[in-house]
Amino acid sequence: SLQSPATPGDLKKEFVGSNVNFQGGTEKATFVSLARNQDLWELVKSIRQVEDRFNRKFKYDWVFLNDEPFSDEFKKTTTALVSGTTKYGLIPKEQWSFPEWIDTEKAARVRQEMREKKIIYGDSISYRHMCRYESGFFWRHELMMEYEYYWRVEPSIDIYCDIDYDVFKFMRENNKAYSFTISLPEYKETIPTLWETTRNFMKEYPQYLPENNMMDFISDDGGLTYNGCHFWSNFEIASLSLWRSEAYTKYFEYLDKAGGFFYERWGDAPVHSIAAALFLPRDKIHFFDDVGYFHVPFHNCPIDQQIRQERHCMCKAQDDFTWKGYSCTPKFFTINNLKRPSGWENYAN
Ligand code: GDP
Ligand code: MN
Repeated sequence: SLQSPATPGDLKKEFVGSNVNFQGGTEKATFVSLARNQDLWELVKSIRQVEDRFNRKFKYDWVFLNDEPFSDEFKKTTTALVSGTTKYGLIPKEQWSFPEWIDTEKAARVRQEMREKKIIYGDSISYRHMCRYESGFFWRHELMMEYEYYWRVEPSIDIYCDIDYDVFKFMRENNKAYSFTISLPEYKETIPTLWETTRNFMKEYPQYLPENNMMDFISDDGGLTYNGCHFWSNFEIASLSLWRSEAYTKYFEYLDKAGGFFYERWGDAPVHSIAAALFLPRDKIHFFDDVGYFHVPFHNCPIDQQIRQERHCMCKAQDDFTWKGYSCTPKFFTINNLKRPSGWENYAN
C-alpha cells in the first residue's frame, strides 16, 4: 500500500535526530569566562568558535563569572550559544576589593606613577582586581566546585582549527595539569618584586617543590633571577587541583599578603606560570600545537601543513608566534628534549 510521504517537517526531524547524536564529553570539566556585561558581544564570537570547533561535539558546561550581576541579555544570548549547561556566578565583594592590609594611598601613588610611565593597565584598579581574582579565587567559586578541569576563554579570541578529541580527557589520561598555546616574557615593570617574593616563599616552603619541576623554564641561572617567561593565561586548559593544592593556596596567600597585586601590577599569567613551573613535575605541562589560537596580538598556528589541512585550520603558518625570537616556547622544547616540528627555522622571524 502507498504510504503518505513524510512532511518536510518530519523529514527534518528525522535527519537532525540521526545527525546530531554526539555522545558528549564525560569529564568533570567546564569552560570558564570572567566577563563584564559589556564584554558580551566580543565573548559571543569566542563562544561561537569554541562551540563550532570543539564543544558542539562534547557539550561541556560553561561557567560565567562577574563582579556585577549578569544582565538578562548576557544570560539569554550565551545560553543560546552554548551546547552544554550555562551557569552564572556573582563574585563575592571581598574577592574583588582591596584587602584590609593594603595601604590604598600607596596603591594610588603606584597607579599614578605607572600612568606616567604608560605601563599597560598600570593605572587600572579593575584590572588589578581581575588579575588577583584569576590568580586566587576563580577556582574557589561555588560554581567551580564540581569540576576537575577547566578551559579559560576570553572575549575576542579565535580558535583556528577543529579539535576532534576531548581535550579534558586528553589532559586526564596523559596526566597533564596545565597547558598553553603561547608563551613569552612578562613586562618586567609590572612585577619588580614578584620573584624576590617567590624566592622567599621557596625558602620557607621547600617541600612544595618537586625535584623534577620546570625551574629551568622560568630561570636561566638556577633560580637566582626570573627570566620573565610565562604561559599566556588568556588560554588555559588546566586541572583545578593544581590551584586547590596546599602549595598553590599557600603561595597565593603569600603573594597576596606581600601586596604586589596592588603595589605593583602582578598578572595572573606570571603567577600561574611560576606556580606551574615550580610546583608541578615538568611532564605535567603540555603545549597544545594543534588547536590554533589567537588573542591580540599573538597567533598560534600549526606550522605543519598536514595538521592545518586535516583540522581545517583557518590561520597562516607565517603568523605563528611559537618559533619567533620573542617566544619562550622554543625554550620549553629545548629544556624538555621535545622534538621540534620540521621546518621550524622557517618560522623563526
Ligand atoms: P587583557 O587580555 O590582559 O588585555 O585583559 P582583558 O581585558 O581581556 O581581561 C581579561 C579577562 O578578564 C577577560 O575575560 C575580561 O572579560 C575579564 N575582565 C577584565 N576586567 C574585568 C572587570 O572589571 N570585571 C569583570 N567581570 N571581568 C573583567
Ligand atoms: Mn584578553
